[in-house]
Amino acid sequence: MPSPKGAAALDAFAQGKLEELEAKSLRRRLTETDRFGPARARRKGKELISFCCNDYLNLSHRPEVKEAARDAIERYGAGSGASRLITGNHPLFGELEQRLARLKESDDCVIFGSGYLANLGIIPALARPGDLILADELSHACLLSGTKLSEAATHIFRHNDMAHLKELLAAHRAGHRHCLILTDGVFSMDGDLAPVEEMAEIAKAHDAWLMTDDAHGIGVVGGGKGSSFMSGRKADVPLQMGTLSKAIGSYGGYLCASQPVIDFLRTRARTFIYSTGLPPASAAAAIAALDYIEANPDYAVLPVKKAQAFTRRLGLPLAESPIVPIVLGDPDKTLAASQLLENEGYLVTAIRPPTVPDGTARLRFTFTAEHEEEEIARLADIIQDKIMEKRAAE
Ligand SMILES: *Cc1c(COP(=O)(O)O)cnc(C)c1O
Repeated sequence: MPSPKGAAALDAFAQGKLEELEAKSLRRRLTETDRFGPARARRKGKELISFCCNDYLNLSHRPEVKEAARDAIERYGAGSGASRLITGNHPLFGELEQRLARLKESDDCVIFGSGYLANLGIIPALARPGDLILADELSHACLLSGTKLSEAATHIFRHNDMAHLKELLAAHRAGHRHCLILTDGVFSMDGDLAPVEEMAEIAKAHDAWLMTDDAHGIGVVGGGKGSSFMSGRKADVPLQMGTLSKAIGSYGGYLCASQPVIDFLRTRARTFIYSTGLPPASAAAAIAALDYIEANPDYAVLPVKKAQAFTRRLGLPLAESPIVPIVLGDPDKTLAASQLLENEGYLVTAIRPPTVPDGTARLRFTFTAEHEEEEIARLADIIQDKIMEKRAAE
């Protein structure tokens, strides 16, 4: 048979790749999910308690947040109509940027279409060929994508290994113009925190710029202000990036930084210039969510407390964030464990490569303010009896 050409070759290529991935249990499929209430999800007609949503404070479903989004649609429409530098800069942007800058104790803030777009815009605007980027090996995919776009010299340091970071700085800093150090504030698949204070000191000592991606920090750690505030006062982090799509319950990315840096990015970050402004409803929802967080400081601490109740019951290291992984290693075993929990009424997705390194497929649990203590205890006991003991026996 002649080999296919044109569109038929394209289909054959895609089909071949899918079959390869299927054979390694790495094919992905979408499942329709109706998140009908706090920590609840309906899938294939079945109601489950969800332990895999990043809506840590359930603000996406908060009545006052939804109402703010509806009002914004009535006033400003469903979309922004253009990039912000053209006519898309509706009045809610200024308010949201000021609110975030205040929360993060920085001069100013710039909003992007998403967290992913923020990193694809910020990093190549700040680092170019001739510059140096040092990134934690477990940094989120979009920090690494932004790094690639920058074409700067790049070295990866071992996860949270400050001695390795210093070694790389000693070896490479002098040969480059600027140096950017990149890390997640709260690691998205492991739930541990970067040693942000120490990194800020190291960055200062080596004339480098520290940027934290605090997607999983804002709203839930550091009194709701994020991973730069673990000691109660702000660590010296000049570039605090994050997303509005997790604890804030809406959508959009942001960077909080000094006035010149923000003004420069509004002028030069390509994903800011060449992409349409966030819809008014998303901005309004985020403002209402920040109102709620500021008015209810006791609520913001609940997701970490719930995660800690879980790790205590299982004898795991005490949770530092609302994210707790249980690494099973093998993708098939992880899928089976996820199915077992679903049969018990819990939604816990299996996280597989390439989202996590090969050999570290895992169940990833996220805890929210609304999870009930009894449910957490029951879930932990099922995991102990049906997953951990089985693993220990193998
Ligand atoms: C989710 C996430 C992002 C992407 O943010 P979006 O707004 O969803 O695009 C970036 N960085 C980290 C660490 C994340 O967990």
